[in-house]
Amino acid sequence: MADYELTLAHLYGNLLNTYGDNGNLLVLQYLAKKMGIQLDTEIVSIHEKFDAKKYDLVFFGGGQDFEQLIVSEDIQQKKADLTDYIENDGIMLAICGGYQLLGHYYMGANGEKIKGIGALDHYTLSQENNRFIGDIVIHNEEFDETYYGFENHNGRTFLGEGERPLGKIVEGKGNNGEDQTEGVIYRNVYGSYFHGPILARNEKLAYRLLKTALEKKYGTVNIPTLAEIA
Ligand code: GLN
Repeated sequence: MADYELTLAHLYGNLLNTYGDNGNLLVLQYLAKKMGIQLDTEIVSIHEKFDAKKYDLVFFGGGQDFEQLIVSEDIQQKKADLTDYIENDGIMLAICGGYQLLGHYYMGANGEKIKGIGALDHYTLSQENNRFIGDIVIHNEEFDETYYGFENHNGRTFLGEGERPLGKIVEGKGNNGEDQTEGVIYRNVYGSYFHGPILARNEKLAYRLLKTALEKKYGTVNIPTLAEIA
């Protein structure tokens, strides 16, 4: 029997799931098992309520502009509950399109304004006839960790109030190709343009998500270190 239990909401998992982002869930499952955690995952999609109290973790993946437009409309109904979850220090990983939708808006590649929920203060512009595609390496000073990944996005994101980057660019384009930032950390929300999926190559981040979620639910926990299980 597992020592702990966590429940994860996979936001719009049937619509936003590009570039192997779902692999993040496999990594979480793998680590959770070794940490003595039973991790239950559920898709929360269009016309379904997001119950902020029910979830210990949220995963929000990336997608094409077309799917993002559909999600953009529906997510306005979940805005209050998602904002509550975030402001209550809920743990979330948001990739690319999901990351964009947590902010104010994303100007799609065809010039359409795709509205976000503004739970985080960033906004995203598009670029003409160009995408940022390629390997990316960033460094997070706070944790002194280096993260490796692959980016593929049209959007150029600019961080706002209370947001700090997930890391500084070592190689690649990141948030906008200008300010040397990549991704975001806000409270317990981690956003990034890394696909690949991000957690498969960055197990320290995966471990941190699970550990933070456990401590939020149970207080002090007795779990193996990453070195003992990875
Ligand atoms: N459609 C968005 C963009 O191109 C998000 C892409 C993604 O999630 N990979 O910026």
